[in-house]
Amino acid sequence: MDLDRIWKNTQEELRVVMAPAVFQTFVSKTQLTTLKDQTATIACPNSYLVDINHKRYYDLFKNALDNQTKASIKIKFILQQPISSPSEDNDSLSPLLSYTAPPSSFSSNLHPQYIFDNLVVGNSNNYAYAAAQGIVNNPGLSYNPLFIWGGVGVGKTHLMQAVGHELLKKNPNFKVKYFPAETFGNELISALKSKRMNQFKNKYRQLDCILVDDIQFIAGKEYIQEEFFHTFNALHMAGKQVILTSDRKPDDIDQLKDRLVSRFLGGLTVDIQLPDYEMRLAIINQKAEKKGIAITSSASQFLAENLESNIRDIEGHLQQLYIQASTQKISPIDIDFVQTLINGTTASSSSKSNLTPRHLISVCAKHFNVKTGDLFGKSRQKDLVLARHVTAYLLLTETKLPLKQVGQLLGGRDHTSIMHARDKIHTDLSTNPQLKKLINQIKTSF
Ligand code: ADP
Ligand code: MG
Repeated sequence: MDLDRIWKNTQEELRVVMAPAVFQTFVSKTQLTTLKDQTATIACPNSYLVDINHKRYYDLFKNALDNQTKASIKIKFILQQPISSPSEDNDSLSPLLSYTAPPSSFSSNLHPQYIFDNLVVGNSNNYAYAAAQGIVNNPGLSYNPLFIWGGVGVGKTHLMQAVGHELLKKNPNFKVKYFPAETFGNELISALKSKRMNQFKNKYRQLDCILVDDIQFIAGKEYIQEEFFHTFNALHMAGKQVILTSDRKPDDIDQLKDRLVSRFLGGLTVDIQLPDYEMRLAIINQKAEKKGIAITSSASQFLAENLESNIRDIEGHLQQLYIQASTQKISPIDIDFVQTLINGTTASSSSKSNLTPRHLISVCAKHFNVKTGDLFGKSRQKDLVLARHVTAYLLLTETKLPLKQVGQLLGGRDHTSIMHARDKIHTDLSTNPQLKKLINQIKTSF
């Protein structure tokens, strides 16, 4: 298949799983430029999209590309070569503006979704949240700087940007700027090369609030630390708000100069931890609600119990779940669906969508060399019990029939005994390679 076709199909797939505005903003203007050695290069019209697509939509792009190419693809998002002069880069962002907040929010580099409304507050982040609210009410005065630290995907960037959005909402003329510390470093180096240091200094020192992400990046980089120290001081002394994030506490960042450590510790240091069960549940429900996806409460509880990870990972899993649910037209997402998916037993059902329960039962009977009637009977003979359990398991996973109906099909059994059969096979599968082989063999003969 040629590149254009793959890309067209990939985009169509993405269109189905993304909200229209999100698709329009983040995907519609991207282009697949190369695809070789299982690596796809996707060009984006500006660096903001490069960043966001990599950070937020990587899994979605990957899933769609994997589907189209039947391979496991790595993706590199790159900046499209500008056709006109680079100074016009900002113009290419205008479609974003029509979708996002007021124009000022663009120059702030704020992600439109990283707002307080989309942020669940729970045990792991309530302290950081309270500090953030304090800043919204009294920028520059309450906690300056605010230093937020924690592991990946716990919501540091989201929280700091939510403050930025809120400050802008209160005062659209407020000059808020979000940037990763790495960007600061890169800009500094290019300003040095092109002898535009004054311009660089002015750019940062005229701001009212800086949101500096992943400050640990500057560790060990003497010159960048030096310049950041001066920028920090200039702003701090003028009562401007500074918020920093890092994966560690200031005093745990190796090769960070003492004077920066002491500046960073001079305000308030808060951490964000991994979410607990309650918070995971709230996040799972909130994400589904925002996307307009119906999910039963037992399904979200099951997910909250099983997705013991950071929020970015949880989002990734939910995204997969939504894609599967939408391709299999499952709504609401229920516990059976979630269980089979999380347990990794979603045997590609699409090609077998016309598989009937009757056919499945007869294939199973043949494999076990028993009569179909025996599968419905009550005999506790060991081989027959196994055959019955496997049939029940396959009926559940391959035809997606609910427990109750599978029970009826298999001689009017109670749904709890079907559940038991499914759990038994599922547990045995992880320890018994022969059983796995057998089940795979049966599946290939459907
Ligand atoms: P970090 O900066 O700590 O690595 P991010 O702020 O990038 O984490 O968050 C990762 C993802 O999880 C983002 O998509 C973000 O919107 C989401 N997220 C983080 N915290 C929350 C929360 N408390 N409620 C809802 N979504 C959250
Ligand atoms: Mg971050």
